[in-house]
Amino acid sequence: MILESHSKIGGCASNFYRSDREFSFDVGATTISGFDSPKPLGKLLDELKLKDQARTKLKKLDIGMKVFYKDEIITRFSDQNKWLDENERVFKDTKIIELWKQIFKDEKLAWQLLNQNENLMPCNGAQYFKILFSKDFLLNLKGLKLLPYLYKPFSQLLDSYKIDNVDFINFINEQLMITTQSDYQKSPILSAIMGLNYPQEVYYPIGSIKNIGELILQQYQESGNEIYLRQEVESIEKINGLYSIKTNIEKSKKSTCQENEFLTKAVISNAPIWTMKDLVKIDQYKKKIELECKKNPESWGAFTVYFVAKIKLDLGTNYLQIHAPKAIPNCKTHPHSNGSIFVTISDSKLNDRAPEGWTSFTISTHTNAKQWFQLSKNEYQERKIQTQEFIIDLLCSTIPELRHCEKSFLISGTPHSFEHYTKRKVGFVGGIAHDYSKPLIFMPQQRLSNEKIYLAGDTTFPGQGITAVVYSAMSLVNRL
Ligand SMILES: Cc1cc2nc3c(=O)[nH]c(=O)nc-3n(C[C@H](O)[C@H](O)[C@H](O)COP(=O)(O)OP(=O)(O)OC[C@H]3O[C@@H](n4cnc5c(N)ncnc54)[C@H](O)[C@@H]3O)c2cc1C
Repeated sequence: MILESHSKIGGCASNFYRSDREFSFDVGATTISGFDSPKPLGKLLDELKLKDQARTKLKKLDIGMKVFYKDEIITRFSDQNKWLDENERVFKDTKIIELWKQIFKDEKLAWQLLNQNENLMPCNGAQYFKILFSKDFLLNLKGLKLLPYLYKPFSQLLDSYKIDNVDFINFINEQLMITTQSDYQKSPILSAIMGLNYPQEVYYPIGSIKNIGELILQQYQESGNEIYLRQEVESIEKINGLYSIKTNIEKSKKSTCQENEFLTKAVISNAPIWTMKDLVKIDQYKKKIELECKKNPESWGAFTVYFVAKIKLDLGTNYLQIHAPKAIPNCKTHPHSNGSIFVTISDSKLNDRAPEGWTSFTISTHTNAKQWFQLSKNEYQERKIQTQEFIIDLLCSTIPELRHCEKSFLISGTPHSFEHYTKRKVGFVGGIAHDYSKPLIFMPQQRLSNEKIYLAGDTTFPGQGITAVVYSAMSLVNRL
């Protein structure tokens, strides 16, 4: 049985409609990757025998994204040779080409390792030993070379190649922000390698990102399982050896199930650790999760903008990353960077998210989540409008034909909105930022105590993006 707080599934990877479903906007996540073999999302869909059906709901892109940096447009081709040529054209440095060749090789090895070791989150030395000698021992042995990459920053790899090209560093910094949620000085080499090569495999979800989740949900329900929407869990207690889950009484009145107390033998939660800390009322568990929250006190927030425009755009890809020429108000991410915006444009040939002649946009950028709280109503609105206007202006400077065309349904989202719709405390999204000084293997474990309460969302290993959440969930299933 699934209890979901919202009226639809997907969380940060969901959508909303306007004008009687004429226009569709993905709320947060907009790209699908990890679908190709042997990556986790494809593997899951394969195991569920849904991969062929899922493929019809996805459009594979030859150009993962276009990056607008100063006066340059960097085309992130999925084809490796084309991508190397593009690097040569833009950065004119053979050392960068050599770096990419290593990234291609090591990324492939990392996915092979993740594929054969369904649980790469060992709890003790014995489990490490078991992993090393399980399945293809030689592959695991080869994979040992990646271990030091867990606790070294990507900047060290750049140093080893003697790469100090500022433009290249700015380029990868913003790519790392949207994948590892960290910059090149903080991101561990291994996460950076996987993040930097992710645009090699980008799928545009036709209609909406939530369609793949709905495909899985349909099978789940057809197999006789239940999901109750509008059931916001408010507490988890233990009574006579069972878990008593209480949900918001007002919301549950509008649910498909009007109960507001459920008894279960075990709990699996996708709520982030910061939300779970307030939900679980079992002392021993609470202490453990409080400790995890102390170790990982915060994460990024997202500022998002959504609108439709009366324009037909075909830019060769559905995704753009635009570097800001000056700091985005209320969104400053790093002292040495002005930040960037990530733009998702509906497909002009498919007309899947907007009718002919119209285009729908989802734009996102990082923001410090906490700054959006404890503001007066006026201050909050002012800041929201300031950031929204800056982002729209930046987009219109990049695509000038957009400036004067008709626009509609313009709204923006802040960490407040994410907290409201996804119940993520303080609107912390995107998982826990990868940081070489806090190696991935010390991320919160899926089981924090002897209680049968398990975590599977993006605040547990490996934590970022849909494919990582799927890996996390699959490794939990294997363990159980
Ligand atoms: C702006 C943005 C852009 C992103 N872009 C991408 C991208 O392009 N590609 C990609 O792969 N990933 C992307 N991500 C990341 C991706 O969205 C997340 O990794 C993924 O959604 C995390 O899944 P999750 O299940 O851990 O958490 P969530 O998506 O937050 O889902 C948690 C679910 O639990 C429910 N819930 C929470 N608390 C309760 C409660 N108390 N009771 C009942 N239900 C509850 C929520 O309603 C929600 O449905 C992006 C994220 C953001 C914010």
